[in-house]
Amino acid sequence: MIGTVSRKRPAASNQPFSSFMTEPVFRFAPSPNGHLHLGHALSALLNARAAVALHGRFLVRIEDIDQTRCTPDLERDMFEDLAWLGVPLNEPVLRQSEAFPHYRSALEKLQDLGLVYPAYLTRAEIKRFVAAFEEKGIPWPRDPDGAPLYPGDDVVLSEAEIQERAQSDAPFALRLDMTAALGRIDEPLTWQEFGAEGPALFEPAKTIAADAASWGDVVLARKDTPTSYHLSVVIDDARQGITDVLRGQDLYAATSVHRVLQHLLNLPEPRYRHHRLILGDDGRKLSKSNQDTSLRSLKVSGVTHVELRRRIGL
Ligand code: GLU
Repeated sequence: MIGTVSRKRPAASNQPFSSFMTEPVFRFAPSPNGHLHLGHALSALLNARAAVALHGRFLVRIEDIDQTRCTPDLERDMFEDLAWLGVPLNEPVLRQSEAFPHYRSALEKLQDLGLVYPAYLTRAEIKRFVAAFEEKGIPWPRDPDGAPLYPGDDVVLSEAEIQERAQSDAPFALRLDMTAALGRIDEPLTWQEFGAEGPALFEPAKTIAADAASWGDVVLARKDTPTSYHLSVVIDDARQGITDVLRGQDLYAATSVHRVLQHLLNLPEPRYRHHRLILGDDGRKLSKSNQDTSLRSLKVSGVTHVELRRRIGL
């Protein structure tokens, strides 16, 4: 039973999980690699509101594993923007750049299970391989975000090339062998999807069947940093005792990967609540490069809280 497995205390953490059964714990987990925009405002406010509505707690987590793009200046601006929004900063604020030992020990567990392999292909090599393959008229499989599935070093490189890279200092990522990982899980993986705002917060969950195979061999440790989004997010949701992961719909499909990692690492299964996205005038999801929807530029142009909330439908 997933429920039984998921409530076990994770070995990677010393934090008690007794609160999981009782008090809901929500989190807003931005990455300070650009300025917060209207989509972040929606996410932060929905989390803070849900915590109040469900008599729980609300925490902030700084997802700064990318130490080249996340800067102290952007982090300072982010805190200013959250203060302007009126989002409470309850302690402790967890910073992922201070948690690398936790990710390393989780990675070691997965390595001990024989589920991790070094992957040497560069993005350009994958792109070239996929383009050449698709010239034959057969589409190469893509993950739910549209990225080509990792083809495997031995499909693209010769044995000698792999040897040469392994013996030199060629950078490599660590990937999860998804087929082997799923082979270790002898029950259908699911998650419980609840509503993200308003009365839907209180409605019963829908059981969603996870489809992790569609992601292929996801990255667990990047070439430039010894972890990845997928690995850190499951470790930290467990370390912070998060019971309710309320985040954008753009991460809905990634939940399948998170459920696999939670299962393999014996971490608790949170409730999931994916919220609507705020789209730009072009109908696309907002990104940090859309300067005109950044909270800072709205604040400077005199947008009030009332106007801001109206724009995000709150
Ligand atoms: N750090 C991610 C982002 O800024 C959010 C991750 C999550 O909520 O799971 O998009």
